[in-house]
Amino acid sequence: MAEGFRVTYATLSTDDDALHADYDRGIEAARGRLGRHHRFVVHGEERDGEPGGALEERSPIDGDLLIGTFATASPADVFDAVSAAQEHAPAWAATPWRERVASLLRAADLISERRSELSALMAMEVGKSRLEALGDVEESADLIRYYCHQMEQHDGFEQAMERLSAGEATFDVMRPYGVWGVISPFNFPMALSAGPLGAALAAGNTAVLKPAEQGVLTGLETVAILHEAGVPRGALHVVTGPGETVGAALVGDTRLGGVTFTGSCAVGMQISRSFTRDWPRPAICEMGGKNPVIVTRNADLDIAAEATMRSAFGLSGQKCSAASRAYIEHSVYDDFVERLVARTREIVAGNPLDRGVYLGPVIDASAVDRYLEAIDHARSAGRALCGGERITEGALARGFYVQPAVVEVPDDSYLWTTELFVPLIALRRVDSTEEAIDRANDVAFGLTAGLFSRDRAEVTNFLERIEAGVVYVNRRAGATTGAWPGVQPFGGWKASGTGGKAGGGPYYIQQYLREQSRTVVEQ
Ligand code: NAD
Repeated sequence: MAEGFRVTYATLSTDDDALHADYDRGIEAARGRLGRHHRFVVHGEERDGEPGGALEERSPIDGDLLIGTFATASPADVFDAVSAAQEHAPAWAATPWRERVASLLRAADLISERRSELSALMAMEVGKSRLEALGDVEESADLIRYYCHQMEQHDGFEQAMERLSAGEATFDVMRPYGVWGVISPFNFPMALSAGPLGAALAAGNTAVLKPAEQGVLTGLETVAILHEAGVPRGALHVVTGPGETVGAALVGDTRLGGVTFTGSCAVGMQISRSFTRDWPRPAICEMGGKNPVIVTRNADLDIAAEATMRSAFGLSGQKCSAASRAYIEHSVYDDFVERLVARTREIVAGNPLDRGVYLGPVIDASAVDRYLEAIDHARSAGRALCGGERITEGALARGFYVQPAVVEVPDDSYLWTTELFVPLIALRRVDSTEEAIDRANDVAFGLTAGLFSRDRAEVTNFLERIEAGVVYVNRRAGATTGAWPGVQPFGGWKASGTGGKAGGGPYYIQQYLREQSRTVVEQ
């Protein structure tokens, strides 16, 4: 492992020979693990699930690359996983929190130690570039560490309260809910499994994970590492298969104490409504984004163009925090667009396992279709300034590659409001920063936003008015992307998230705990 080099999304421009040599070894190791059959794990027992129900997972990099076949859990398997988690819940809650934290910190260290192989596996599964995959893996470890440190910082969330009379003592304690369901998306298959699992387990809940269909191997690996590090088999289970059946069975289980879902707004809202139909239970739903960039006449245009390019096209536009629209003040519009288009044309697209490739494939054929449809629409309603084609040179024809696209469309276009999750950004001229902020806020989503301005009053106005959970000003490393645990807490407002509290932030783990005030009067 390359020592002393901390990979975060904000260091993604940094290059390091030792890091890449280690990654190359990771690719070799990961290749040796492809093409196998995988079972899911309930109470430590590997299960085959629905007879004949195994799903094949192929790489978006190259359809000839078989990641593996994966068993599909039946409703009875999901029921058993929740039963086992429920049975073990009292013992895990009663385990001293320092012991729980010790196991989780060991898991975080194992993840960091194995980062190259885990990243390479993930890159093959979901098409991430080298440093994006390394970032996801290291973020997973840091999310777990952050939640453990929150437990330490709050001394296990137990504190003595004031007393009103002698002989009376009150303690305030935060206690786990019981069994926690976690449903993760394809685009951060490790961080958004390990993060919520880390918080749920550190807080003393037992957990059942349902990973995304594309990204399932990474989900299974995450659970295996947590078990290896000492999280009991009874405290953590994983069920695999389609969201509509396996995911739905998990969130439909009335014995869950809470659920964390990360994914699309359509599914998240459905879960948010149904989960609390009979009684209140926490349903933390982290959902999509339509993240704006604002460039004012007081911006450093070079920084603004580079940052916008990075956030629009990193992970092929498939980050919930991806920049998909930009509002640029009239007087700097042409200059900004020229720089953005020039930088976009310099992007190296290709096999993301290769060193130096920035833009890998999109996740599947339907993402390609969504992209081509958006391009057709942009060409007929407005214009495409660059990009717009599927990439089919050589081996890339076997994957889902498209060119990064910059477009202009009219105000009534769906490209201003709909999350597409493809490498495409729409641009618009505005007359003022006020107009830009109004337009930025005029969508259902409120996840991330970025401003470029050297004018203090503009910056203050933006920070006060923008309706988004994660905001950045003048950040070259990414206009709207690249949050890190303990550095930029990450959570959405409005249709982007239900919690109002952010992952990797100081108020996150409390959502997995409920308060109990204990007054005991000595007799
Ligand atoms: P998705 O909604 O299609 O799937 C997410 C997960 O939900 C998968 O595991 C899927 O199998 C499962 N699922 C699907 N239908 C279900 C159902 N009816 N019941 C229960 N589970 C079900 O999302 P995706 O395509 O995997 O991920 C991309 C989406 O995730 C984007 O909208 C993106 O913005 C969002 N996202 C948000 C954040 C955030 O922090 N806000 C982070 C990453 C991704």
